[in-house]
Amino acid sequence: MNTKQDIRALSKTELRAFFVSKGFPAFRGNQVYAWLWGKAVYNFDDMTNLSKDLRQFLEANFVINHIKVDTLQRANDGTIKNAIKLHDGLIVESVLIPTKNRTTACVSSQVGCSLNCHFCATARLKKMRNLNPDEIYDQVVAINRQSELYHQRKLSNIVFMGMGEPLLNYKNVLAAIDKITSDEGLAMAPKRITLSTVGLPKMIKKLADDNVKFNLAVSLHAAIDSIRSKMMPINEVSPIADLLESLQYWHAKTKRRITFEYVVWQGINDDQKSVDALVNLCKKIPVKVNLIEYNAIDDGPFQKASKKALDNYVKCLEDNNIVVNVRHSRGQDIDAACGQLANKTVGSVQ
Ligand code: SAH
Repeated sequence: MNTKQDIRALSKTELRAFFVSKGFPAFRGNQVYAWLWGKAVYNFDDMTNLSKDLRQFLEANFVINHIKVDTLQRANDGTIKNAIKLHDGLIVESVLIPTKNRTTACVSSQVGCSLNCHFCATARLKKMRNLNPDEIYDQVVAINRQSELYHQRKLSNIVFMGMGEPLLNYKNVLAAIDKITSDEGLAMAPKRITLSTVGLPKMIKKLADDNVKFNLAVSLHAAIDSIRSKMMPINEVSPIADLLESLQYWHAKTKRRITFEYVVWQGINDDQKSVDALVNLCKKIPVKVNLIEYNAIDDGPFQKASKKALDNYVKCLEDNNIVVNVRHSRGQDIDAACGQLANKTVGSVQ
């Protein structure tokens, strides 16, 4: 068991104070911080503007816990799914999703998930723990490097739509986003980041109070309580009225439009009553709707709705001037699509 402290748990101020306490100039703290975050090196020996003695001193006192890409699978459409090994051996998944003009990283925020949405493969994994800020940051770094290698361009967007519920790991997710957006980190614009949540009203209000600058997506999937509760047990605790109230609060504070993610299932929410309920809800708050194609999960009882049912949703939403996109899934042949992340490696490792 390694008992040395993880150096990335220290803030820049703490690093500077550490160096001063050991008789070094404080600016060494800034140098090390830049190596750890801006350049994301995982070895003290790579910190080439430090003397060998200083590097050895750091090595004697600290470790740099970091992720490792354990397996990498490439789908026919260019999507890359990574099984990421954490320093304690647990695995999460991160996905690179290329489109014509963008490369998006889909990152995980927890190992497993506690929310038990009945249609989601991740729900079948027990929640083991929250990811640390550096473990979230490292996923973005790894995917950015893959984007440069495989697509000759930098990562353009980040979505927190991998494993876990980001708002149940609030502090660490916000700390990671802070690093991702800071000039000393990856300097990505917050408007290119979207946090997707099952919809926890208290935490959505907290996001608004904390004045965050990234986008918010809510996994709605049904605008009728009885249907939503059937698919997402969290709705029993936080019904749609409470969710709506928190989203109105968010919008009043941030002035930013929310995205509803919505899957249409056969025999569940493909009827006119469900469509009308969604249209009514959308009239109460500025939103955009992403209709997501359902990805079948192993022995799941649900089926995706017919094209006709989907077209009806699109038509009714558009007739009411509500912005709607249909999102076809990517990376399905390697189980990398929404809701398919369950630490299952198929096919060959490329
Ligand atoms: N916990 C967060 C983020 C993870 S899920 C949340 O719930 O938003 C990312 C998105 O994939 C969510 O909208 C989720 O509802 C959706 N999803 C889960 N399982 C799916 C499946 N089998 N097919 C399509 N989308 C799915």
